[in-house]
Amino acid sequence: MRRVLVPLAIAPAPLPIGGVQHLQGVTMGTTWMVKLVTNARAIPELQAGIELILDTIVRQMSTWLAHSDVSRFNDAPIGSWHSLPGEFYQVLDFGLRIAAESDGAFDITAGALVNLWGFGPTRDAAEESQPPAPAEIEQARSCCGWRRLVIDRHDRRVQQTGVQLDFSAIAKGFAVDQIARYLAHRGCGHYLVEVGGELRGAGFKPDGQPWWVALENPDGSMDASGTLIALHELAIATSGDYRRYFEREGLRYCHSIDPRLGLPIRNGLASVSVVHRNCMAADALSTALTVMGVEQGMAFAKQCDLAARFLVREAHGLAEHHSPAFAAMLQ
Ligand code: AMP
Ligand code: MG
Repeated sequence: MRRVLVPLAIAPAPLPIGGVQHLQGVTMGTTWMVKLVTNARAIPELQAGIELILDTIVRQMSTWLAHSDVSRFNDAPIGSWHSLPGEFYQVLDFGLRIAAESDGAFDITAGALVNLWGFGPTRDAAEESQPPAPAEIEQARSCCGWRRLVIDRHDRRVQQTGVQLDFSAIAKGFAVDQIARYLAHRGCGHYLVEVGGELRGAGFKPDGQPWWVALENPDGSMDASGTLIALHELAIATSGDYRRYFEREGLRYCHSIDPRLGLPIRNGLASVSVVHRNCMAADALSTALTVMGVEQGMAFAKQCDLAARFLVREAHGLAEHHSPAFAAMLQ
């Protein structure tokens, strides 16, 4: 039976009048898409505005771009100080908060490990014949640690202390929020925004329906009998062991790394989806819960009243676990 997840409160607003317009493009090595109710004449300007937002985020936060702000920070000499652009600072600050709350399961300073395991810009996991040696892992692990970052919050500066920043687990969600904020600012209150699978919706479609999205399955399909979510003033982000991984000798090495161990997770989790008002939070927290594993992650979700769905690989298929806040939204 199809299940639906709906928000606990509906924002009172008149239904939009007009057609649904589609915008799309590529960014951050993936695609983006916006559906919104607006006048067709507004589309070229909105497309340009969204592209500018995404380009700004990439120029600041992409480790895949050699001269982005984050790449220049990562390559800079130890001891150097760096003034941060506003968006970069916001993501850094929020990333550090989630790192602290998750006790380092989520860590924006885990770039050396991400690179070592072949999921960053410096080497390609698919081309590695062997997983890294223990000494290499220990070396990379010793370069990670959110506590090592030195921040001057007054002047919004950060000191390079030998860590490699990686915003890949949070930047897509941030981009979704920035686009949503831009659309609201332009007077568009009815939209669905998606960047690389992370989504946020507001308002309604002209027929009075909310923006329904299907929960993603680990095989990439949208299960016809699966859960549908009404993204009304809500965002959803999903992390999983199936999005990027390589296999050696029957073992799966995925791109979710436990920075405390220096290893790709092997906790049985296939995916974690988090529903939250804010997509940056959903993105960071879905990664954090994925690394924590279902037991610790569920305890964390309960404690923080997070709406989360965990899919665990078991001998006979996938087992689904819902946090109480997620279950409360299911119908
Ligand atoms: P996501 O799909 O949002 O879970 O992000 C996965 C990406 O985040 C990986 O490709 C890495 O670049 C990075 N990453 C991996 N493990 C972590 C971690 N424990 N904390 C923060 N970022 C991570
Ligand atoms: Mg994430």
